[in-house]
Amino acid sequence: MTPEEKKVFMDKIHAFVGMEMAPPTKGPDDVNKAMIRHWCEVMGDANPVYTDEAFAKASSKGSIIAPPAMLQAWSLEGYPMHSPSKDEALLDNQRKLHKVFDDHGYTGVLGTNCTQEYFRDLKPGDQVIAHTVIDSISEEKATQRGIGHFIETVTRFTDQNGEKVGEMRFRVLKFIPNESNKVESAKDEGKPEVPTRIASPRGHDNAWWWQQVDKGVVPIQRCKNCQTLRHPPRSMCGECQSIEWDFIESKLEGEVFSFVELHYPKFPGYQYPLICAVISLGEGTRIVSNIVGCKPEDVKIGMKVKGKVEQVDEKTMLPQFYPA
Ligand SMILES: [Zn+2]
Repeated sequence: MTPEEKKVFMDKIHAFVGMEMAPPTKGPDDVNKAMIRHWCEVMGDANPVYTDEAFAKASSKGSIIAPPAMLQAWSLEGYPMHSPSKDEALLDNQRKLHKVFDDHGYTGVLGTNCTQEYFRDLKPGDQVIAHTVIDSISEEKATQRGIGHFIETVTRFTDQNGEKVGEMRFRVLKFIPNESNKVESAKDEGKPEVPTRIASPRGHDNAWWWQQVDKGVVPIQRCKNCQTLRHPPRSMCGECQSIEWDFIESKLEGEVFSFVELHYPKFPGYQYPLICAVISLGEGTRIVSNIVGCKPEDVKIGMKVKGKVEQVDEKTMLPQFYPA
């Protein structure tokens, strides 16, 4: 960013300070014994004041209370919060703010701090409502993850009577991932540096497979005893338990068994749009690979494809499948 662009960006993000992050939220359920018990089981918290009626009644609490650390759980919306509206105008302020960061290359996000204060015990039947405000956005900081800004939100939790029951400060770092810093600085020095894909894991049982791919061949492992083909590579035949094997070379003719388009997070070294598919090969085994050479919307289950081994970056040979 030029200094002028940076100023525009800073003005844009600072305009969010003091705004409500989203309308006040309440979870689908009031404070209840079932969720308390589930929490205690998962956390391994055996304090009987959370689950044992008789014990809680005889204690100073007088009845079952919720573990204080559950505070935020009572206000979370559950799965629906993962499917925000596609309509930008309907996005809440938090998503709008994150979008401004994303649009300027700050695509990384990392939760860094969370502190909570509890003002009273919550008991079954209580209702908890969260009111969250974007409290501050830091100046640019250099961190190990990359350069970025800390966004701090403050959430005030109130009960059914509007009384404050707790408070939470939550801080995230929105940053430009280091990999792109590296590319950026390499460009500045006039040396092109292109990030490569994540290296293939090459262990005792599968290194041979990747070594064939490096030579342009996609092998399919074959049991020497019963001739059954298998993929991914492994040491023993699932049919006859023989550990003797060889391989055949796949013709790379097949069809799309299933596929997904990867949107987020975007990894350096990969070309987008990125289609990841399970291909049923003519030989009978399946392979996970990319579909290239067509638009994502043209990919269909059952589509005939033909693969070839290609060099996809400086270091990586991979089978890639094209519409046949
Ligand atoms: Zn076998």
